[in-house]
Amino acid sequence: MICSRTVFRCFKTLERLGDRVTGAAGPFFVALAIILMSIGTVAFFDVISPSLPFPLLTIPLCVLVAVNMWTHYWWACTVPPGFIDGDASPIRGLWAAKKNHVGVSARTTRAVQTKCSKCSMMRPERAHHCRICNRCVLKYDHHWINQCVGLHNERHFVMFMAYLVIATLAFVLSGYPQLLVALGVMGMHVSWPYRVSLTFYLLIYILSAVLCLAVGVMCAWHLAAISAAETSVESQDHGVYKRVARNRGEEFVNSYDLGRRENLKLFFNLEEYPIYTLIVPLRLQPYTDGRSWARKDGYEEHGGVRRGEELTDDDDE
Ligand SMILES: [Zn+2]
Ligand SMILES: [Zn+2]
Repeated sequence: MICSRTVFRCFKTLERLGDRVTGAAGPFFVALAIILMSIGTVAFFDVISPSLPFPLLTIPLCVLVAVNMWTHYWWACTVPPGFIDGDASPIRGLWAAKKNHVGVSARTTRAVQTKCSKCSMMRPERAHHCRICNRCVLKYDHHWINQCVGLHNERHFVMFMAYLVIATLAFVLSGYPQLLVALGVMGMHVSWPYRVSLTFYLLIYILSAVLCLAVGVMCAWHLAAISAAETSVESQDHGVYKRVARNRGEEFVNSYDLGRRENLKLFFNLEEYPIYTLIVPLRLQPYTDGRSWARKDGYEEHGGVRRGEELTDDDDE
């Protein structure tokens, strides 16, 4: 018993150390990503884009993908996720105009408030305490490279992943002929007339292929969770609730789940904003202030979970 407690404590100490390293290394990773994305962008427009077919059509499309990737990355890193004790997200950047006839068609109800055991603040449902930021975040998803992903920047985070996958896929597919040249397959006499060096091109090509696969899987996982109306934390918690409910012969019902299509529409807020906001990099408000949530008809709370059975942040203590 004592032994297992010691092991547990050691593990927790290591975890805290990990948190501190993650917190301190955040700006370093942001900078590293900016450097790699810059080399990738320059390599694409220097080496690949001049040989693309239908340049009048393909080059503007490539520019649009690059602009989306960069702006959503910047906003995912800089737009505050929505702290429960913070101000609303500051009005900066280009905002999209709302549709004329706006309004979330789904019914929204006030979120239940509970007290955070770590910062003692009252917080609405779906908010969680981030150990690295040491604050409670509205609709907390996870702590990313330098800050949390939450209510106000989750859309930018997902859009960044999607555009990164499109950009790296375009790089890998259309940069293939230049890769053959770089590898010497076309014969050693073929020249390399580009500003980006051959070594950088090879490195970025390999990195693009790896990122396309890895981020592609991550993005698909996030989109699946979004279409089930779950954050990363909730998709774990709901797994536990489903087991508990099943053992009782009941069924767990996620009260935020309005159906795949409606869930995606609410996440990207296409209820209040036009569909072009998916391809034009603009900022927009989430459908809620994080203190009330759209619910399934007939549900005030999740089905199959009883009071006191809800998991709290203390469960990962
Ligand atoms: Zn807290
Ligand atoms: Zn955080």
